[in-house]
Amino acid sequence: MPFDSYYAATAPGIEFKPLVGSTAFVETAILGGGFAGLATARGLQERGRKSVAVLEARTIGHGASGRNGGFVFGGYSRDASDLVNDLGLAPARELYALSRDAVGLIRRRIESHGLDCERVEGGALWLNWFRGSRRAERQLREQARWLREQFGVSWDEIAPDQVRQWLDSERYGAALRERDAFHFHPLKYALGLAKLIADDGGRVHEHSGVEAIDAVAGGGHLIRTSHGASLRAEQLVIAGGGYLQGLLPSLTGVRLPIATYVMATEPLPTDLDPIRTPAALYDNRFAFDYYRMLADRRLLWGGRISILEREPVRIAELLRADMLKVYPQLASLKIEHAWGGLMSYARHKMPQIGQLAPGLWFAQAFGGHGVAPTTVAGELLADAISGKSALPASLQRYGLTPVFGKAGLLAAQASYSWAELRDALRESLPG
Ligand SMILES: Cc1cc2nc3c(=O)[nH]c(=O)nc-3n(C[C@H](O)[C@H](O)[C@H](O)COP(=O)(O)OP(=O)(O)OC[C@H]3O[C@@H](n4cnc5c(N)ncnc54)[C@H](O)[C@@H]3O)c2cc1C
Repeated sequence: MPFDSYYAATAPGIEFKPLVGSTAFVETAILGGGFAGLATARGLQERGRKSVAVLEARTIGHGASGRNGGFVFGGYSRDASDLVNDLGLAPARELYALSRDAVGLIRRRIESHGLDCERVEGGALWLNWFRGSRRAERQLREQARWLREQFGVSWDEIAPDQVRQWLDSERYGAALRERDAFHFHPLKYALGLAKLIADDGGRVHEHSGVEAIDAVAGGGHLIRTSHGASLRAEQLVIAGGGYLQGLLPSLTGVRLPIATYVMATEPLPTDLDPIRTPAALYDNRFAFDYYRMLADRRLLWGGRISILEREPVRIAELLRADMLKVYPQLASLKIEHAWGGLMSYARHKMPQIGQLAPGLWFAQAFGGHGVAPTTVAGELLADAISGKSALPASLQRYGLTPVFGKAGLLAAQASYSWAELRDALRESLPG
């Protein structure tokens, strides 16, 4: 059974040479070839700052960016209503709008550069898992009204009957539809963006893990990689996500690497058609299922949040059981791919985007809702580095709060288990 990532198995074989030698100089070097690093590099190029280098320890999209569910939608891991409580309405609106603009920017980049990444403009459906619960249905409607009134965002209310026409499942009640959302093959997008950066004169180096960063007298950084090569850069952006280790304790000590899992079934036979919508689908539990149909009729299914990185065989078992709770008719399907990935979470669940020292920037902690926010980070950092505008003060409020290492991880797992238990109780209670 080929238990690897479906994305890795179907991506084009685009490779980028490792950094060699020690004479190279760039204006901006970026650690990490995930969406945050790539969006920053591309954002700089689009502002005329073409001298960029992306240094990736493994291969482009090796981290969360090349493994995720492929949902591209507005918002952040932190709830929109919490943003308003934290910041007040106007700054919260601005931050939320940045994430929606980022959805548009990703779409424009795909279209204007012909990036082949299987984009499906199907929107996203947020499904009520607690069918029959009047409270849950009311909350869904209130959420739609709140988003409309506070943020001017219009999510369609989808009645349970319509949901049943699209999905052959007894599981759900009503749903909300975010029309402007889409889904795509994230690894193909990451590779396409990296190629675009390289074609536009940027450097992209795989197998070039950054092992040491030294400040250079008079400004700038000397960046050494695992293979003994080095690079000098005026500006350095750290975008290592949940995969950054050791290098900068001030960044690794303020976010937790948290796992989530994905699998892909074999292609569904033509007489089995339980999902008749092009939308990306997820539900309203804390640890929700997220899934979508792929072009070759496979079902891509993700879920679970855990501090444990698990083996693919175990991931397949867990997710298959989750899938059968919703679609028992898929019991005979083979699971052909299963994989996990690490998200990085701050305690406040907002991205950490900022500056550690002159010329030393960071973008991390995008959580499980990171495709659009990493693009927000790329735009903000490109503006800041090119001197166009400072980073927004509202984002700086979500700072580098310590997460307390292993104790923090255990506390996170305890809170996830508690939230899952709450959802299970809610499911079993009437009304
Ligand atoms: C399974 C899964 C499903 C998800 N589903 C969705 C979804 O559907 N929609 C959504 O919006 N979000 C989703 N997310 C979240 C989203 O994928 C992430 O928030 C986002 O991709 C983070 O991007 P990043 O660039 O910060 O980190 P990453 O993509 O993890 O990239 C960091 C990169 O840095 C590299 N690196 C680390 N250390 C070094 C070093 N020392 N030197 C050089 N390189 C280094 C790593 O190898 C890695 O490639 C999901 C995440 C996971 C794991």
